[in-house]
Amino acid sequence: MASPKMDTAADPAQGASPASPAGTVAAEPGRPLILIVDDSPESIRLLSGLILDKGDVLFATSGEAGLNLARQRRPDLILLDVEMPDLSGYEVCRRLKDDPDTRDIAVMIVTSHHSSAHEVQALESGAIDFLTKPLAPAVVRARVQTQLTLKSQADALHRQAMLDGLTGLYNRAYFHEHLELEWRRHQRQQVPLGFALLDVDHFKAFNDQYGHVAGDACLRRVAEALKASTRRPAEFVVRYGGEEFAIVMPNTPREEIGRFGEWICRQVQDLAIPHEGSSAAPVVTISAGLAVLVPTPDRTWSDLIERADRALYRAKQEGRNRAMVAD
Ligand SMILES: [Mg+2]
Repeated sequence: MASPKMDTAADPAQGASPASPAGTVAAEPGRPLILIVDDSPESIRLLSGLILDKGDVLFATSGEAGLNLARQRRPDLILLDVEMPDLSGYEVCRRLKDDPDTRDIAVMIVTSHHSSAHEVQALESGAIDFLTKPLAPAVVRARVQTQLTLKSQADALHRQAMLDGLTGLYNRAYFHEHLELEWRRHQRQQVPLGFALLDVDHFKAFNDQYGHVAGDACLRRVAEALKASTRRPAEFVVRYGGEEFAIVMPNTPREEIGRFGEWICRQVQDLAIPHEGSSAAPVVTISAGLAVLVPTPDRTWSDLIERADRALYRAKQEGRNRAMVAD
């Protein structure tokens, strides 16, 4: 039998891995990502052969390498060997559960021990299920499928709870969670994280003149324009408040962000939604405040928001329908 094609580092024992694509926060919905951590290449071959049709398979041959890959790639499910020379599977599982970046990943412990004491230890370390060697193929496949189904249902519910009802964009609760993850990822990689805060100009006057139904329709069209204007899937648009929106721009240098701000203002203006009561233009426009930071330990993501907020204030002061970049 040909050995299964696996997505992994050239030397998995080193825990190296291809850099994750810009802005990948979690595996894309669709094909699940499964990580096998086992010190035995033979076990990895066997296990991956059983589940190749259920998702993309990554592997690591030590506990440390497994932890690194889990943090970098955020798989949907980890199959974790207990008996490994560097770290036991129980210890790896505990560390995964202690790390906010990895604590939501489902872990199945794989061991040759059959006692209920071992099963209890696996569950206490945070594992969701338990497989015993020698592996029974049908059991492995069925239990892996169960966990992947549960994970995808949980993800779908989670996404639903995090959407804004009016615009279908992500809401502020999800935004904070997402920005926190991006902040930490950019800090590890020491790359610039861009952020834009956008506000519809004279929106109260719009509602007063055209009514709230038209106001809602206007917000939906602006939201669509913002979403359409993002150029990379990793860019992330949220409804930040009433008529405020925000865009998170992973790995975006300062030179790019000013151009992006102007471009996004133009996209909204080009919708040509009449707005007679606006001093900025005869149509609906937005003002944009933008900021870029390479995260450092003495800062938090709220610094990024504050900077963008101050730049937005300046954009308003200087006549609206424009973008300002924070110093
Ligand atoms: Mg082992």
